[in-house]
Amino acid sequence: MLDSIKKIFANTEEDRRPAGAKPDISREKSSVLFEKAKKYFPGGVNSPVRAFKSVYGTPLFIEKGDGCFLWDVDGNQFIDFCCSWGPLILGHNHSKIKEAVTIALEKGLSFGAPTALENELAELILKHNKYIERLRFVSSGTEAVMSAIRLARGYTKRDKIIKFEGCYHGHSDALLVKAGSGLVTFGETSSLGVPKAFANETIVVGLNDKEALSKAFEDFKGEIAAVIIEGVPANNGLLLQSKEYIQFLREITQTHGSLLIFDEVITGFRLGFEGAAAYYGIQPDILTYGKIIGGGMPVGAYGASAELMSYISPDGGVYQAGTLSGNPVAMAAGIAQLTELSKAGFYKDLNKKTEEFVTAIQRYVSAKNYKVTLFHVASIFWIAFTDQEQIQTACAIDPKSIEKYKILHRELLNRGVYLGPSGYEVGFVSAAHTKIELEKAKRAIFESLDVVFS
Ligand SMILES: *Cc1c(COP(=O)(O)O)cnc(C)c1O
Repeated sequence: MLDSIKKIFANTEEDRRPAGAKPDISREKSSVLFEKAKKYFPGGVNSPVRAFKSVYGTPLFIEKGDGCFLWDVDGNQFIDFCCSWGPLILGHNHSKIKEAVTIALEKGLSFGAPTALENELAELILKHNKYIERLRFVSSGTEAVMSAIRLARGYTKRDKIIKFEGCYHGHSDALLVKAGSGLVTFGETSSLGVPKAFANETIVVGLNDKEALSKAFEDFKGEIAAVIIEGVPANNGLLLQSKEYIQFLREITQTHGSLLIFDEVITGFRLGFEGAAAYYGIQPDILTYGKIIGGGMPVGAYGASAELMSYISPDGGVYQAGTLSGNPVAMAAGIAQLTELSKAGFYKDLNKKTEEFVTAIQRYVSAKNYKVTLFHVASIFWIAFTDQEQIQTACAIDPKSIEKYKILHRELLNRGVYLGPSGYEVGFVSAAHTKIELEKAKRAIFESLDVVFS
């Protein structure tokens, strides 16, 4: 057992290649592992987008991460803009998080009973977030959203929910109705195995379409429990909405006695400590968190006013539970990460760095007349192969343009830059991306775009 673990970490420094190496990177060891994995897991993976179906080559098996760098098992080094899909806003292997986790795990991994660590993380969040009064920890974003929907239904005594085309909210049945991300990549609009009766309770409308939403509220008068939207839709490209539209969602839900749910699994602690709610200055009824909140450990949460949260068991009649909820090691990681994020100037520096990075790339593609637009908000960016200045809906994305991303992805890997393995995925800049690395990444992106358009 120990031998097999030792073997995983057997790479020496010489096995690793510096970032920026250009010939096709070796994926020898990754390929062997992938072939083996296919015997164990459907598609060889434990989450579909990891299978690299939308880009070239074998998925890279990762050996370790540090700061803004990743190393795969073949020893290739990358500047990482995937950041585990968003959680790692401080970069990989952050010393403070490692220390906190180490202290916690010395005491045991799980008790199934309350710990002071849960209070600590809750206090840290609630003290700095005026949009929620109570919260409940769960173990993933999916779970947080699923529970938020149940709360909305339990509170309003209504069954139907409205979601938007191009928003992803995890893989619970009610929300696997024309979801984005991996699903769009696979060219599917929903999943097998979701009962039709469930899907019937979910109404899907286009983003930025006031008429469609008004019509949905008229068609199902008195039946809509909630409208759910991503803080900023970032799972199917980056579909930046106007504040005015979000304000419209706030008003129409209020008019019809429905709740407004912000799914802040990406935007929470990313757009700022208070996420999208503070970014717009709009108070939703329920907020969901995930990704960053656990510092790289599996944590999710949902929160609302004290009144709404009193509907959750054991106080109220909306049942929700979790064997590993509030896990002490995960709480410790969350506390360490959020403590760093709550420090003055954290987001200002990170966002400024991202702005400069994105602006430089935009300047380059404009000078070269490449059909590329970079969309960004805070430390999230999306490289889109379009000359449209705005993309606000899923259907405004030309699926053919995504083909170009495959080349960009391969060329970037060959130059030591790791982006998410699909053109619909956004990139994340972390506090660990230094000016030097961002400069290197920029040059790699310029060269790779030259190849894409050559
Ligand atoms: C990632 C994500 C989820 C699902 O979270 P998991 O932890 O993967 O279950 C839900 N909503 C949004 C907006 C997400 O980005």
